Amino acid sequence: MGAVTKILLASICVAFLAAKWTSPRFDADSLKGARVLVTGASTGIGEQMAYHYARFGAKIVITARREKVLQQVVEKCQSLGAQKAFYIAADMANEADPDKVVDYALEKLGGLDYLVLNHIGPSPFSMWEGDVDHTKWLMKVNFFSYIQMAWKALPSLEQNKGSLVVVSSLLGKITSPFVAPYSSTKFALNGFFGSLRHELAMKKSNVSISVCTLGLIDTDSAMEKVRGVTDLPAYPATDAALNIIITGSTRQPELFYPWFTYFIAITKDWFPSVTDYLTQNSYNYIP
Ligand code: NAP
Repeated sequence: MGAVTKILLASICVAFLAAKWTSPRFDADSLKGARVLVTGASTGIGEQMAYHYARFGAKIVITARREKVLQQVVEKCQSLGAQKAFYIAADMANEADPDKVVDYALEKLGGLDYLVLNHIGPSPFSMWEGDVDHTKWLMKVNFFSYIQMAWKALPSLEQNKGSLVVVSSLLGKITSPFVAPYSSTKFALNGFFGSLRHELAMKKSNVSISVCTLGLIDTDSAMEKVRGVTDLPAYPATDAALNIIITGSTRQPELFYPWFTYFIAITKDWFPSVTDYLTQNSYNYIP
């Protein structure tokens, strides 16, 4: 390894450690009684977030489409220590549902301290075959419903020095095969909420926006897609969920989980051909 590369890597490590050491401390007590709405919480990372918030003694509303599953998650939240736990079934592809869910949470909790936007619609893990309708539908679920809910919840978040937490993906920062529609929705989220963060700061708003960039996480839906296609390591959903909650609670603008996703995101433009080579060769594909 050349001297320049060594210096570069050392500087990146120092910058990363400095950022870690200077980041604010998480106070679990601050979540006691906090009013939280979590979307996509019937399963996966959203479900794990619901359980963590419950253990911290928060008041929670969860949403997704499957009512029976939501009911079970709410019962578990109650047994784990949630001060209040409610669910509302909703389909984020329906134009009226994002508003309906925020209204329900405002009514049940009397306001919102955290809006955690996490849901995603199912999308195939395969080559793009020209299905424009699916991409439009996915945009509705994964993007338009997010901005609709954010807008609806902003007045209450403003009143309560609240936080908007957006669960995104490394695939919203770098491009990859087999995920064109999904990746587009995540790039859209990063663009929109990055812009909104500037505007809120310029207006001296007291609402924080945290955008969470996740790598591969071991949820059932993700594992089902990548099984046999890639050997990339998957990280635990419960740990990802806790890191998202801490990021929102400490009002950090960004989370990179696992930690190395930060380096992938920042180095992709420095070595584009290396990144392309590694990306295309991390999947088992025979044309
Ligand atoms: P997941 O297990 O597939 O869960 C998706 C959630 O969204 C479920 O609760 C699902 O419940 C709900 N949902 C699906 N379609 C919906 C619709 N039309 N309207 C309302 N809710 C709907 O997902 P996950 O793996 O936990 O991912 C959670 C977040 O992390 C996503 O934003 C994802 O992009 C991000 N992320 C995940 C990974 C990973 O490897 N897992 C990596 C990077 C980023 P119902 O079916 O009951 O509606």
